[in-house]
Amino acid sequence: MLLDGKIEEAVSLIGSVFAENAANACVTCSFQTECMVLVDLVIAHRPNIPVLFLETGYHFPETYAYRDRMTERLRLNLVNLASKQTVEQQESQFGILYQDAPDRCCGMRKVEPLFRGLDGYGVWFTALRREQSPSRANLQPVDHFRLPTGKQLLKVSPLAAWTNADVWAYLKRRDIPVLPLYHQGYTSIGCAPCTSLPSDPENMRSGRWAGKKLECGIHIASE
Ligand code: SF4
Repeated sequence: MLLDGKIEEAVSLIGSVFAENAANACVTCSFQTECMVLVDLVIAHRPNIPVLFLETGYHFPETYAYRDRMTERLRLNLVNLASKQTVEQQESQFGILYQDAPDRCCGMRKVEPLFRGLDGYGVWFTALRREQSPSRANLQPVDHFRLPTGKQLLKVSPLAAWTNADVWAYLKRRDIPVLPLYHQGYTSIGCAPCTSLPSDPENMRSGRWAGKKLECGIHIASE
């Protein structure tokens, strides 16, 4: 399907979700390319939708600068979701977990804050795409997601069928700048200690966690 068709499908899905679930929607955003497409599409329907950013404390300085620049430019209702401990507190209590126990670090700095942050919402828009990784190959545009509290959310991924080329073409068409780290060859950008240049050109997320794992745990917990 051509880009226009994919945009039409995404807009239609977003519109129908808002029509059926008038309130209580949020969108998660790591300020990567697909996130900017999704945010651009979603704020066209609801300009003040909460934009949840996982403030792990370990992001690249470029990511923080870009987050702030785009928040101002798009007038986003940014919500930073922080861990219960600062980076300093965590490192002094547990050491450098991203080296020794990245699952635990992601659990404390990403999964727990996100699940806590999502608890107040009924609809969760994500920018996940099937093409991003083998671990996302079966992604459905509309799914249910159960939080550890038992609360169930509607998890909506309007870009599920989009390719990387679609994402870049959309951003170019809309004149939306990308996080400058993409120009250095990064293809998937998360926390600085766990992000490197991709080792497998076929897998955009192969630069995450040095290929040791593909997901932080958030999107594995869905059902
Ligand atoms: S991506 Fe790395 S630094 Fe970030 S929370 Fe996970 S293990 Fe920690």
